[in-house]
Amino acid sequence: MSAANSTVRRILVFCASSGSCEPHFHQAAEELGREIALAGHTVVYGGGAVGSMGAVADGALAEGGEVVGIIPRFMRELEWAHSGLSELRLVEDMQQRKRDMLSTSDAIVTLPGGSGTFEELFEAITAKRLGFFPNPIVILNQGGFYDPLFQLLESSVSERFMHEAHLELWSAVDRVEEILPAIDAAAGWPTNALEFATR
Ligand code: AMP
Repeated sequence: MSAANSTVRRILVFCASSGSCEPHFHQAAEELGREIALAGHTVVYGGGAVGSMGAVADGALAEGGEVVGIIPRFMRELEWAHSGLSELRLVEDMQQRKRDMLSTSDAIVTLPGGSGTFEELFEAITAKRLGFFPNPIVILNQGGFYDPLFQLLESSVSERFMHEAHLELWSAVDRVEEILPAIDAAAGWPTNALEFATR
């Protein structure tokens, strides 16, 4: 589907809010933000100012890129929101945020993170499995961070909770510079996804 993917413009990034992780995780997020902006794409993300979330936004903004944050009102009230974004959309709750993030994206990138990042990734993978989200999902397996997750997903296939084809729902790369090419290279997801969703 590379022809369709050449129209990619809004890249949704799921990543960590933690400021306590090793700095190389934040550096990767900032680098990704810069690359997205330099490629002329828009960053869409959860709107936070801290951790990898803040870094991806700062990286894109530093290159003059457009950054859209989608954040629940209560998080803004807690002053968690980034104050320098091109656009900050306030939504009622976490569920609406995830829905709006998915519908505002042409591709998803997931960086290392915690439970919030995992939840967002799994929501996207499940939506794609059920045919509601057709776009590329690229996971940055920085330093092998996601190896245990891939093992778990492969077990799910070998135990036949999921179909082998579901291993194509995402693609994984090791380095930030491989992310945008992986989005371009991602195969299209079949429109009959529901027919094998439970196989
Ligand atoms: P995690 O990977 O657990 O750090 O979760 C990242 C996700 O958690 C974000 O997309 C938000 O849903 C939420 N989150 C947690 N803390 C913050 C914060 N300080 N600012 C914005 N979002 C946050």
